[in-house]
Amino acid sequence: MTIALYPGSFDPVTYGHLDTAIRAARLFDTVVMAVFDRPKKNLLFSTAERVEMLREATRNLPHIRVETYNMLTVHYARQIGAKVIVRGLRVASDFEHEFQMAQINQTLEPDVDVVVFMASHKYTFLSSSTVREMAGLGGDVSELVPPHIVEALKRKFGSSV
Ligand code: ADP
Repeated sequence: MTIALYPGSFDPVTYGHLDTAIRAARLFDTVVMAVFDRPKKNLLFSTAERVEMLREATRNLPHIRVETYNMLTVHYARQIGAKVIVRGLRVASDFEHEFQMAQINQTLEPDVDVVVFMASHKYTFLSSSTVREMAGLGGDVSELVPPHIVEALKRKFGSSV
């Protein structure tokens, strides 16, 4: 049984993240989407909010479960028995960061491999930061995130979203 760990900030989860998770769940037995519990600096939503929103977004998705962690990603991977770390690649500028992290992770934990999914073309330009920015300025994000996230953004920014 292959467990894949899909770590991220998910601040908030977008259809791009979900697309990657669903595709990963076709290849691996279980995909653990894990919210990195880091200090709230530069984050819009708390860890509890991000986890709750992600759980709701994945409620009906088979083989995907949601957890939170606050240690090195490779240590968490080892803790849950994950042999694979899933990441997504959108544009060339993602590459350097993902490559660097993969190299560090491989040095720390050679038994865990990083598998990178190319973003689906319709989500190539979608990021949590774009969603936060658009929502903060009153833009319509309903094509980018599930309905309960639209509502959560409205509560954060007021009802102009
Ligand atoms: P982090 O802070 O770890 O980068 P994110 O939540 O921003 O957390 O992203 C988690 C992972 O999901 C990253 O590998 C990122 O490249 C990927 N990702 C984000 N948005 C998309 C998208 N639209 N399509 C595919 N992968 C994505």
